[in-house]
Amino acid sequence: MLFAGIAWSADGYEIAFADQETPARRFGGGELPDLVTFLTHVDQPLAIVVESTNGAVDGFLLAAGLTVYRADPPAIDDSRPDFGSIAAQSLAQLAAQGLSSLSELVTEEGSLTGRHLPPSAAFAPAGSELEARGRALGCVKHGPRNRPSIALSFDDGPHPVFTNQILEILARYDARATFFPIGLSASGLGHLLAKAAAAGHEVGNHTWSHPYLPDLSAAGLREQIERTSDAISNATGARPSLARPPYGSLTADVVDKWTGFEERIALWDVDSADWARPGADAIASKVLGEIKPGSIVLMHDSGGDRSQTVQALPSIIEGCLERGYNLATVPELLAPRLHPE
Ligand SMILES: [Zn+2]
Repeated sequence: MLFAGIAWSADGYEIAFADQETPARRFGGGELPDLVTFLTHVDQPLAIVVESTNGAVDGFLLAAGLTVYRADPPAIDDSRPDFGSIAAQSLAQLAAQGLSSLSELVTEEGSLTGRHLPPSAAFAPAGSELEARGRALGCVKHGPRNRPSIALSFDDGPHPVFTNQILEILARYDARATFFPIGLSASGLGHLLAKAAAAGHEVGNHTWSHPYLPDLSAAGLREQIERTSDAISNATGARPSLARPPYGSLTADVVDKWTGFEERIALWDVDSADWARPGADAIASKVLGEIKPGSIVLMHDSGGDRSQTVQALPSIIEGCLERGYNLATVPELLAPRLHPE
């Protein structure tokens, strides 16, 4: 068994191997398809380790049939910087020392496998203290219920194939949507964010490396958000007004650390569950079965194989239009009078 660690930084990814004979490799943040191809061509059984601040690659690796483990605190606390992961070689060594301290990821649960999420604002009961604190920060899960508008949203991009396909489908129906890209994944792919913005879509902030936010320091969270908003404004010319925490992991601790950020938090009230790849028909019928006026729908344009999402999208759009819904961006959904249809 060969043990590989994947580290992330402001520039991209490094893959190192515990045997120290297989040479380390580097990939740009936007080169995820190449990174996956490289790992699928390693000609011996492989155990790959990512840490809990890297949620951008595991979906691709699992979809390619690779074996992936996640290292969580406290195993990674000692040497982890505020921004960036621990070294790839350290992650590979953690695996070589014993896989029992790590969590093996399964496709059905994705990058949160075995992680017991504290109640997050995404799912906090209405009227709870956490929900009230989220609302005070400008956190929304949906728009007004008295107007026939729906906001489709696409997280974890950009992806050189799937983001383009989704933009083409949206254009065919003259529908607008909101994208929440990962800053690191946008390296070298800023033209896709520019293309989305030019077509009238909203581009929000989904952090730099798709971390599990409760694992970050306050400084680490700030850098994740600021660098990503910088990258988006460099690509589109507009600084994002919205952000979405990966996994909706808006715990009380994260709410405390979020105070003072300009980006308003946009969660969702309808989860397409497309990341679990249940089939295009299942994705479309779940969305169309759950939408209400003002719904924000969570979908993904990257983070794994999104061919089912692409396949489901025309049925979802047609189903919304047949029911008389207008497809809006999240800001249009929240302030409809500023954006007449
Ligand atoms: Zn995400």
